[in-house]
Amino acid sequence: MVDKNEVKISVKNLKKTFGDLEVLKDISTDVHKGEVLCIIGPSGSGKSTFLRCLNKLEKPTGGSIIVNGEDIVDKKVNINKVRENIGMVFQHFNLFNNLNIIDNLTLAPVQLKKCSKEEAQERAKKMLARVGLAEKASSFPSQLSGGQKQRVAIARALCMQPDIMLFDEPTSALDPEMVGEVLQVMKDLAAEGMTMVIVTHEMGFAREVADRVIFMDGGYIIEEGTPQEVLGAPKEARTIDFLNKVL
Ligand code: ADP
Ligand code: MG
Repeated sequence: MVDKNEVKISVKNLKKTFGDLEVLKDISTDVHKGEVLCIIGPSGSGKSTFLRCLNKLEKPTGGSIIVNGEDIVDKKVNINKVRENIGMVFQHFNLFNNLNIIDNLTLAPVQLKKCSKEEAQERAKKMLARVGLAEKASSFPSQLSGGQKQRVAIARALCMQPDIMLFDEPTSALDPEMVGEVLQVMKDLAAEGMTMVIVTHEMGFAREVADRVIFMDGGYIIEEGTPQEVLGAPKEARTIDFLNKVL
């Protein structure tokens, strides 16, 4: 599934500081088309900051991030255009609670003039069906379980027809019995060839679905490789220590 000939995201010497705090010290990696990259690491290691830099929710302090051929660190690049192709899913869903589900899904495509209202609704219904929630179109977020809300959030991101999806601990806020349904939607997306970067603590998911795993600590990539390599036979002491704590 991974197309080694097409780099979707190329990160070189990425640095990010908040005041005096150096959070990302020197991160370089490429994400290829169709690749599922899982990022693991202790709390505070810079995982979310790294992910947020990929669509410039955080502004990098140094280095370059080339997404679909455009360096988003360059001020001249229209970041909103680049973002239209990058879906993002957060730990806390971030749905609009005052809008029903179908309006949550059509808001961005219509406002950003990606399509007509009719087309947006058509697509929204398809995406809801894809995450198994066709019957929830006119419900409000408050009427859904956490797992359903997160599946709606994924469907909403897909309505923009992105070719890259970023996930920041999408199952961390869920009750355990709802984790599986969200991971299943993500597995389906991966199987369909979506390029995905996923910050997660779900080691079982990473082992099964990731093409590559990155272990981050202290603002650096400490170790990366296949799940078998990083999770099954870690080489670095910090990786071993982290895995001993979480597994
Ligand atoms: P992780 O997702 O791995 O837990 P984060 O990327 O959220 O780590 O945070 C890494 C470090 O950066 C933490 O020390 C955090 O407090 C700090 N940090 C994150 N965002 C900001 C911000 N907007 N302002 C100041 N410090 C921040
Ligand atoms: Mg985080």
